[in-house]
Amino acid sequence: MRLHAMNNEQVKVNESVGKAGLGIHVVAKPVGPVCNLNCEYCFYLEKHVLFSEREQFRMSDQVLSAFISNYIGSQPTPEVAFVWQGGEPTLLGIDFFKRVIELQRQFSGVKIINNSLQTNGTLLNGEWCRFLKQHNFMVGISLDGPKDIHDRYRRNRKGKGTYDQVMRGLRLLQKYKVDYNVLACVAQETAKQPLDVYRFLRDEGVEFIQFSPVVERMPDAGSSQHGLRLAGPAALDKQERQTEVTPWTVVPEEYGDFLIAIYEEWVRHDVGKVFVMNFEWALNAWIGNPSPVCIHAEQCGRSVVLEHNGDVYACDHCVYPEYRLGNIVNDSLSQMIERLCKTGFGVTKETALPRWCRECQVLAACRGGCPKHRFVQTYYNEPGLHYLCPGYKKFFLYIRKYLRAMTQLLENGLPASYVMDVIKGPLVVKLDEK
Ligand code: SF4
Ligand code: SF4
Ligand code: SF4
Repeated sequence: MRLHAMNNEQVKVNESVGKAGLGIHVVAKPVGPVCNLNCEYCFYLEKHVLFSEREQFRMSDQVLSAFISNYIGSQPTPEVAFVWQGGEPTLLGIDFFKRVIELQRQFSGVKIINNSLQTNGTLLNGEWCRFLKQHNFMVGISLDGPKDIHDRYRRNRKGKGTYDQVMRGLRLLQKYKVDYNVLACVAQETAKQPLDVYRFLRDEGVEFIQFSPVVERMPDAGSSQHGLRLAGPAALDKQERQTEVTPWTVVPEEYGDFLIAIYEEWVRHDVGKVFVMNFEWALNAWIGNPSPVCIHAEQCGRSVVLEHNGDVYACDHCVYPEYRLGNIVNDSLSQMIERLCKTGFGVTKETALPRWCRECQVLAACRGGCPKHRFVQTYYNEPGLHYLCPGYKKFFLYIRKYLRAMTQLLENGLPASYVMDVIKGPLVVKLDEK
């Protein structure tokens, strides 16, 4: 999987190690929720209310050092993947990341260390890119599409669009040959222009794309109590009262249509050239492999978040006091994960699935989505259905015929990209419409 868990925003795609996985995955936020931008759909900026008013929002050397040694030491795998995000982590400056490399060298022993950085791209310059290249960082850059689409939601603090700055950042990554992928958020308006988004990214030379649907609820009693303007994770065992979504939240069916329109374009022209992670995950599930992303995995809960002050939370969607697991300076990661497992977090993703999902034709690919957004009632009036269900279902059902064809090709030792010929003929792989 080339795309690592990498998002500072609506991304719900922490690496999952599956049911039997041993590794712990940590997403570090060394600058907390601080960012130079003010994107309309950002769900993380508001997290500053959870900290003291005098908070510095900069990871201290003590916390950084405790994290790096603890994280490396707790991984049973030969490789350790560090993910840095925010807020905007480049606000910390290159020296912070030079120190990261220094500490990783000090504690790595025989382990191989990988680093990923998720950024809005606006502060990248030649010096940053040389550093990122030199240390093999995988960079995730947030870009929602062409100027009119990107600037609709991704603005700076003065309300100005950030497209020009982000494109300058993207061109620098390309110029310095830094490994990168694009994270494109799919908000309500974005979903109406799928081909404009996809063709733009493809024509800009982007080879790895991840689409992340934007879903947030208006505040409920629990979040208002903390001074937050967005609701937290859904209660899965009872019907949620607050089901009103924010104005920027994508419409479920439109999200499905968005993915289908792009799939139709991709499957005809770009298989093997452009990697849309959402499509890769679907094929992966179809083949029967465990999902590499938590939202479509059977269970989740081994991908925690480290805040700038050392506090560890259950995941990027659960940075709320009730999901705090401890502090990296005083507690070991393994202990914190053990504590999390005892609460049933992660397992509930599977055990709380409503009957509607358990009987669903595309359960193997969808797995009910992220529990945070399961705030809708099913046809049988059960709680705990994912808000995006109609979109997910439409998309997964629609692409089955192509997945079937690609699987047949792979089984016959042929590349999946031959599906582009299959569609045109004369090479025949039966496309079963069932
Ligand atoms: S770039 Fe936008 S979405 Fe990302 S952290 Fe900053 S304000 Fe939030
Ligand atoms: S498509 Fe809908 S019903 Fe099917 S598993 Fe996903 S959320 Fe559940
Ligand atoms: S609640 Fe589970 S599925 Fe949702 S983001 Fe967190 S780890 Fe992933």
